[in-house]
Amino acid sequence: MSDCIFCKILAGQIPSSKVYEDDELLAFHDIHPFARVHFLIIPKQHIATLADCSSGHEGLLGRMLLLAPRLAKKQGLDAGFKTLINTGRGGGQEVFHIHVHVFGGGDPVKRS
Ligand code: 5GP
Ligand code: ZN
Repeated sequence: MSDCIFCKILAGQIPSSKVYEDDELLAFHDIHPFARVHFLIIPKQHIATLADCSSGHEGLLGRMLLLAPRLAKKQGLDAGFKTLINTGRGGGQEVFHIHVHVFGGGDPVKRS
């Protein structure tokens, strides 16, 4: 997907602050965090939204979700965290490459 920001991050064409990478998934810090810790988990395969997934994506979706607590703990979110998947324009989705937001730890650190 040549016009997809997250595919460009995957291709190394846009820099990102990497949290985790394996053969099928990448996690990186959100550029506009809404919590002290806020990162995104994305598949390397371009899938636009959760609504585009079918039973063939069960394993991938499961692995994305199961990665969240592992990475949240590594990021210091021992007390817990929130997950969010915005789906479609009406769901507030802005980047049409499926992603799980993982965030917590209170208000983001203000940078002035
Ligand atoms: P959505 O609203 O689609 O669920 O969330 C997209 C998220 O991607 C937003 O929280 C936004 O800050 C983040 N984002 C958009 N462009 C970039 C980028 O180039 N780099 C990073 N790291 N995050 C981005
Ligand atoms: Zn993409």
